[in-house]
Amino acid sequence: MSGSTLVELDDAREAILSASRPLAGESVALGNGALGRVLGEDVTATHPVPAFDNSAMDGFAVRAPDLSGAGPASPVTLRLVGESRAGHPASAVLEEGEAIAISTGAMLPRGADAVLRVEQTRPRDEESVQALSAPELGRDVRRVGEDLLPGQTVLRAGTRIGPAELGVLASLGRSLIRCVRRPRVSVLVTGDELLGLHEAPRAGAIRDTSSYSISALAQCGGAEVKWTGRAADDEAATREAVERALDSVDVAVVCGGVSVGSHDHVRPSLGALGVRERFWGLALKPGSPAWFGWRDETLVFGLPGNPVSAMVTFVLLVGPALRVMLGQRGEAERGEAIMSSDYAKPPGRAHAVRCRLEQRREGLYAAPTGPQGSHVLSSMLGADALAVIASDSTGVSAGERVPIEHLREWTRA
Ligand code: AMP
Ligand code: MG
Repeated sequence: MSGSTLVELDDAREAILSASRPLAGESVALGNGALGRVLGEDVTATHPVPAFDNSAMDGFAVRAPDLSGAGPASPVTLRLVGESRAGHPASAVLEEGEAIAISTGAMLPRGADAVLRVEQTRPRDEESVQALSAPELGRDVRRVGEDLLPGQTVLRAGTRIGPAELGVLASLGRSLIRCVRRPRVSVLVTGDELLGLHEAPRAGAIRDTSSYSISALAQCGGAEVKWTGRAADDEAATREAVERALDSVDVAVVCGGVSVGSHDHVRPSLGALGVRERFWGLALKPGSPAWFGWRDETLVFGLPGNPVSAMVTFVLLVGPALRVMLGQRGEAERGEAIMSSDYAKPPGRAHAVRCRLEQRREGLYAAPTGPQGSHVLSSMLGADALAVIASDSTGVSAGERVPIEHLREWTRA
């Protein structure tokens, strides 16, 4: 990992994308665990929704021509010949001069072609109703197939299932759906200085944050965290933990210990365990020690120990792999924003600047979240996007446009 061998972010992602394969599908019960999963099939409507013409209002099913000319001053009286309630259709067929009481969502009786709202009637007696207006043909009728038509592709494979998708799948009566298997991920953190949440503080020790933030990113990315572990800065302990991390997962993530320090044992362990190195050293700040390789079907990411670097490289490098595994486009959601302040940098490495986005009248603005040190984890709070300033750039001035990658997909599990 020297200055001359640093891999550009785009090349790194290209290598990761070409090493990533879509995972197989599995059947998931709509009512049990489908939320947040990714569809593994195109969903096509097999029948129309709604399945029958029905009323949008409480009122009376009528034949529109019977009421032409009806108004407050010239009411038309119709014979009441039955009732259609939601879930209980009327058996009668509507003939000329007749009305059938109807509730919202109830099936439109045969012969009817409009609904007269209850507010536009005057009750007369049990057997008749007075119409005070003349609804046009089709008025307040929800037509069969207005929502979905048979044969229509409603949802595409690769779609993340949210509340609306669940509802639409239910409207089609789908109790089982095919979802892509969740990528299985392990997260190993390394470092003598790391303290678990329940360990007593001691001099020189810090809280292990990446076990939480990186596992959470994996879950936000649609993966399942199968194992988390921590290893001391010791050759044997690191190798043992890395071996465990590689067991039965699609993606193994190792945080820290991947740099050039004399106590960094991750790379030799990976090598000894047969993980092939694809690249080490990224032309990106934060994130230069990042490492990538694979063993058989398992992709292996060595991420920098610094908590911000670990999160940023997870998003930028592991993110594309997870998307491909889930049958989605590998690329992140990208855009452009106007930098709200000057940002200076030396050439040589790209910078991923954590930014808050603000929509103003003149356009979308990106404002750095504050001090950008790779240890300043609070700089990730409220970050909506990463502004990626190119390697060869010496910075941008306020008002200049910069490419951004949105972070919203990383904020919901
Ligand atoms: P390393 O990449 O192991 O040299 O670690 C770089 C920096 O990140 C050091 O300051 C470590 O203490 C810190 N660090 C490493 N792993 C973690 C972690 N899991 N949580 C918080 N900080 C970490
Ligand atoms: Mg370390």
